[in-house]
Amino acid sequence: MPEGSHRFQAGSITCTVLADGYCSCPTPWFFPNADPGVLARALEARRQPIESILSPFTCMLLQTGRHVILVDTGAGESSVTSGAIVARLEMEGVRPKDVDTVILTHAHPDHIGGAVDSRGRPAFPNARYVLSELECEYWTGAQPDLRNPGLPEGIGKETPAMVRHSLDALRFQLEAVTPEMEIAPGVRVLAAPGHTPGHLAVLIASDGQKLLNIGDAAVHPLHLEHPEWENGFDLDAPRALATRRELLERAAAEQMRVMAFHFPFPSVGRVAARPEGGWVWSPGW
Ligand SMILES: [Zn+2]
Repeated sequence: MPEGSHRFQAGSITCTVLADGYCSCPTPWFFPNADPGVLARALEARRQPIESILSPFTCMLLQTGRHVILVDTGAGESSVTSGAIVARLEMEGVRPKDVDTVILTHAHPDHIGGAVDSRGRPAFPNARYVLSELECEYWTGAQPDLRNPGLPEGIGKETPAMVRHSLDALRFQLEAVTPEMEIAPGVRVLAAPGHTPGHLAVLIASDGQKLLNIGDAAVHPLHLEHPEWENGFDLDAPRALATRRELLERAAAEQMRVMAFHFPFPSVGRVAARPEGGWVWSPGW
């Protein structure tokens, strides 16, 4: 397996980002309202393909001394290009039964898929699975509204059934939380709605150092440079853009490091405001 873990300290909390896999999707799905010419030039300048986006899935392990916390679980075995999270954890000396807390930023299959094993059982048998109350209600409600103007018709129509299957398997370990709750000392969830109704960010703060995991509030570094560019997977685009702006303004003002699940590995870096608007992404810790 190629290298796919990177460890660093946020104060006294040991953080390790772990590559679960990736997916590839047509570029317009990630940038439905971007000017195609500007977008093509921006991708070219980054030496990236123009027609499709290769989007990594990166989870985060937090070891506080008392707690072993996993933030997002990757896509599991839903595709041949994902599902490495358990192997990555084992390479870090962490067995599934050692994980006591799993925080799910939201319930999309690329984040919750690895929470359940191939036999339909919780992949982390001793963990409480933390998800926002709103997110649980949305996916288990009568009929989640998945009409999404940013994506071609029919994309994601299997998603509700997949999410419900995962949530059902996790039901005895699920803990529905509200934003601002401290999940463990130094680890707090924040409301970050728009991508999904109950989408959460995770703030890690220890000994004066802060790391903000923004989940899917931005799914490509170009969403920072062009904060008006929507992500087609956002269920409520205006709300998602407002959330993105709020999180990044806070991260820049408070000099937090930022982690974003779909950014190029190691998916962690700094943001700085650009004079012309938006933020510039500098990868690394
Ligand atoms: Zn995602």
